Amino acid sequence: MFTDFTSEIMSYPGGEKITACMQCGTCTGSCPASHAMKYTPRRLISLIRANQRDTVLKSLDIWKCASCYTCTARCPRGIKFTDIMYILKNLAWKEQRKEEDHNIFGFYSSFQDLIQSRGRMNEAELILRYSLKTNPYKLLEFAPLGMKMFLKGRTAIVPPGIKNKRQLQEILRISQERGGE
Ligand code: SF4
Repeated sequence: MFTDFTSEIMSYPGGEKITACMQCGTCTGSCPASHAMKYTPRRLISLIRANQRDTVLKSLDIWKCASCYTCTARCPRGIKFTDIMYILKNLAWKEQRKEEDHNIFGFYSSFQDLIQSRGRMNEAELILRYSLKTNPYKLLEFAPLGMKMFLKGRTAIVPPGIKNKRQLQEILRISQERGGE
């Protein structure tokens, strides 16, 4: 018999094999972000299986995943841990769960707004949107970095858009309606 949270994760695409984890730690050892995590990939799986839903969904660690897929490629049990991270992020986002004092939702909503309006990433505009949403004084802090990036041609004042932006916006709209799957 599985815990409620384990069954919940298993009900989403990518979460089906979570009970096959043997706690070998290969995912944690391979993860380039695990050094910055309190709860590493192996520990997160253990917490899910122990039904620690609040602890997992409120953790900042689930937002540190860089989506490199190394854990998924190396897991000897075929567990798609990167997909599990997306499941966790979607649940946390939907329920607006966070414990630590961070602005992760402000950052992700700024990113989402940017992609919806431009169709592609632009670092300068992301920082601008994020700062205006959370703390406009941050712009003073980011200004020297922005200037360096601009001078090296790494960012543009007026970022280019993409072709068929409406199609992308429609995909994003459908994805949001389905709960960000
Ligand atoms: Fe579990 Fe796979 Fe990570 Fe090993 S590599 S701890 S089996 S998820």
